[in-house]
This record gives sequence, structure tokens and C-alpha cells, in this order.
Amino acid sequence: ADNVEEKDTVIIGSGPGGYVAAIRAAELGQTVTVIEKEDTVGGVCLNVGCVPSKALIAAGNRLKQDRDSSVYGITTTGAEIDFTKTQAWKDEKVVARMTNGVNMLLKKHKVELIQGEAYLDNDTQLRIMPSGPRQFMDNGGGQTIKFKNLILATGSRPIEIKGFKFGERIIDSTGGLNLKAIPKEFVIIGGGYVGTELAGAYADLGAHVTILEGTPNIIPNFEKDMVSVVKKNLESKGVTIITSAMAKKGEETDKDVTVTYEVDGKEEKITADYCMVTVGRRPNTDNFGLEMTSVKTTDRGLVEVDEQGRTSVSNIFAVGDIVPGPALAHKAFFEAKTAAGAISGQNSANDFIGVPAVCFTDPELASVGLTKDEAKEKGIETDVAKFPFAGNARAVSLDEAEGFVRLVAEKGTGTLIGGQIVGPGASELISELSVAINCQLNAEDIARTIHPHPTLGEPVQEAADILIGYPTHI
Ligand code: FAD
Repeated sequence: ADNVEEKDTVIIGSGPGGYVAAIRAAELGQTVTVIEKEDTVGGVCLNVGCVPSKALIAAGNRLKQDRDSSVYGITTTGAEIDFTKTQAWKDEKVVARMTNGVNMLLKKHKVELIQGEAYLDNDTQLRIMPSGPRQFMDNGGGQTIKFKNLILATGSRPIEIKGFKFGERIIDSTGGLNLKAIPKEFVIIGGGYVGTELAGAYADLGAHVTILEGTPNIIPNFEKDMVSVVKKNLESKGVTIITSAMAKKGEETDKDVTVTYEVDGKEEKITADYCMVTVGRRPNTDNFGLEMTSVKTTDRGLVEVDEQGRTSVSNIFAVGDIVPGPALAHKAFFEAKTAAGAISGQNSANDFIGVPAVCFTDPELASVGLTKDEAKEKGIETDVAKFPFAGNARAVSLDEAEGFVRLVAEKGTGTLIGGQIVGPGASELISELSVAINCQLNAEDIARTIHPHPTLGEPVQEAADILIGYPTHI
């Protein structure tokens, strides 16, 4: 083609992996081009993931707190919600504000942003198609770019399951985030992070929610004693949780959807306003010509990378949801910085000892490093200490004294190798444990660090006190 442009570092995708790689690569002196097929930057996380989901969770929390403040002697009359306004606030004041912020950062770093869909030709060349149907593909239309380095950050998309074709009433998480009205009956298939977080949010907003989960427990990546705190809370909000349930089919009418599922060998049906299917996500590695390159993928369709994020082709890197490991935005941020550094000749590498995982339920769940059982599987002997929020003055005064902090330390040395928190502020508190584990601090380091009183952070210190053999408030 005659319109071939040569570029230095090209990044496909502007989600957490792509835009952070772009900023870091620019900071390290590279000339950077980002290609994004959507109208806005920020990827799933900012547009239809982490950020809007937390906005709806926050709105639900506010409403619930307003309605439930009698414990403080407060009588509220008629706390009402106008969900159209809630959605407008989420879209304009939260999501748009954050995506505009990313746009400004890209400009500030002189990153070139091209809107269009990238399609790879080979290990050094790609074409950019206008977004939408690839009408130019066969005649080789579109802009052709020859790149020196490429970072793939194309992310993931929701999985559709048999019998539940996405439509008006059978929706994915994006549909679930963008409902126009609060449903009366809401069925959620899949009790993982996304399903459970939104179940709590919509229950707080007034919906009757049913979670259908195929395995014996919801949010199975957290330990059972942690999940049971959340389960109890969800049930107290009226959420019906049906586990070991096999979702069979969803039948839409213009006003509702009937979901058929099987539990204990018996077929059951629920009719709801909407049925949201959140059973996992598929990496976007099958839809942009990756097969035209020599980049190797795993049998699960993920891109194989080394500890710097380099693929089997030395000038092509991959980060975020398309590479193995937990599909989380902060893991994508981290990989993005490593890959940008590697392209600039830095000796950086990904070390996943402490990827925190958070679920923004009520109360929140957070964990980092190893659980006691994971340590055992690795042949590490541990000492474990647990301190309940019930013994913490701040949690009690907030009327949120459910849950606990657990520390896992290596026996003998006391080096912290894992931490789990379920309770108020768990998503914030886990950062202290992430630092501790990443820096290989031991229980004594935490125990001898003065934590302000009365705060939700004290149970971390209290658990460390237990580990060193001198428990204080227990
Ligand atoms: P993505 O964010 O998926 O971005 C990929 C980008 O690439 C997209 O903008 C896409 O349009 C673009 N793209 C793809 N193919 C092409 C192409 N061929 N040409 C041009 N552009 C292309 N994670 C957390 O850490 N915390 C949370 O609280 C959290 N909540 C979530 C809630 C929900 C409802 C969902 C769905 C996800 C949530 N996640 C959360 C996960 C998080 O969103 C992802 O891990 C993260 O977005 C992955 O970043 P990424 O850069 O790999 O990909």
C-alpha cells in the first residue's frame, strides 16, 4: 500500500494496560501511538468496569445508609432515588471525568491517539480500520503502520453461554451497569466478583436479586470464612443465593425474561425484568489478526509472555487481561510499566508475589499474597493470626463491626506472606499488607509501627501483635 507510516512504539488498546504503557513509554523517551477502536479511552475499566460499578455501589450504599440510620437515632423520612439522575451522575461526573482525565494525560505526554480498529498483518506491520464492520479488509484498505515495537493491550469481553443469547433482557455486565430503571426482579447468573458486586448494589437500590451460581459457593477465589460474612450480609439485603445451580435457558419477551435452571436435579424457573450473565471474560486475542504473526498463545487463548511481558516475537509485548494471571486493572497497570520499561532497555520484571484482589461487596473482601492453604501446598509452614473488627472501636462506632483481618506469616522468621481482610475499608487496608508482603516485612515490623487510634487499620496491627505473642485487645 502507498500509505505506509513508520512508527516507534505502537500500543493497541487504551485500557489500564494500554494507556499506562503509553504514559510510561513516553516518560522513558519513546514516541508513542495508541490505537483505540472505541470513542473514549480507558478501556473496560473506566468505561464499563471498575469505575462505573463502584459508582453504582456507592449510590446503593448511600441510599441504604440513609434508609437505615435509625441505629444512630436518626429518623429519615422517605429517602427516594431518581435512578435516571444516578445514571447521569455516573456517566457524566464519574466515567466521563475519568476518561477525559486519561485523554489529557495522553496529550500531556504527547502520545498520538488514533481512533480505529487495529488489525495485524505480520510481526512488524498492522492496518487501522475504521471501527465497526471491517468493510475494507479484503481490498487492504485503511492506514498501514510499520512499528518498531508493539504492545498488545486489547483486553477481554464477556462470555456468552449456551441458552442465554445477549439481547434486550438478557444482558452482560455492561448492560447491567447501564440499566435505565432499577429492576424489581433481577437474576444474575454467575456469583463471581462482578456478579456479586452488582447484586449488592442493586439490592441496596431496591431490587430483589437472585444469584444463580454453578459452583457450591459464590466468589470462590476468597476463603470460605470470608465469603460467609458477605453472604450473610447479602441475604440480610434480601438477595437470594442459589448455588450449585445450572442455568439452562433464558426466554425473553418484550417485558421480561424467564430463566430456567436446574438445582438438585429439579428444574426451576424465575421470571425477572433482566437476567445479567457474568460468568467470566474471554481474552480479545481472536479478533485482530494475531494469527498473522508468530505470537504464541496458550490453549486458553491467552498470549504467552516472559516476565517482562515479551511475547514469542521479541518486539511485541502483551499486557493486561490478554495475558495469564488475574484479570485486574492494577495488574495491567503493573505489567504496562514493566513492558514499557523493557522496550526502553530497563531491566524490569513482573513479580507477582503480591497482587491484591478486592471484591467491593458489603463488607468488602480483600486479599494479597498466600492464604494459609496455599502456603501449605507450597510446603511453607505458617503462623496465622486473626483479629475481628468487633474488637475495633472505629468499626463499632461506624456500626460496621463485621469481619476480620488475618495475617499469614512464615513460621520461624515471622515474614508476612499473606493477608486477608473482610470488613469495612478492606479495599483500602489491603495496601498496607501489600507493602508488607512486597517488602518482606515481618510481623514485628507491623506490630511496632504506630497505627493511629481509633482507625480501621488497627486490626492489622492487632493481628501482628497476636503473631509476635503479645495480643492486646483480644
Ligand atoms: P481493557 O480494559 O479491556 O481495554 C482494552 C481496550 O482495547 C478496549 O478499550 C478496546 O476497545 C481496545 N481494543 C481491543 N481490540 C482492539 C483493536 N483491535 N483495535 C483497537 N482497539 C482495540 N478490575 C479491577 O482491578 N478492579 C475492579 O474493581 C474491577 N471491576 C470490574 C467490573 C466489571 C463490571 C468488569 C467487567 C471488570 C472489572 N475489572 C476490575 C477488570 C478490569 O476492568 C480489567 O482487568 C481491565 O480493564 C483490563 O485492562 P486491559 O487494558 O487489559 O483491557
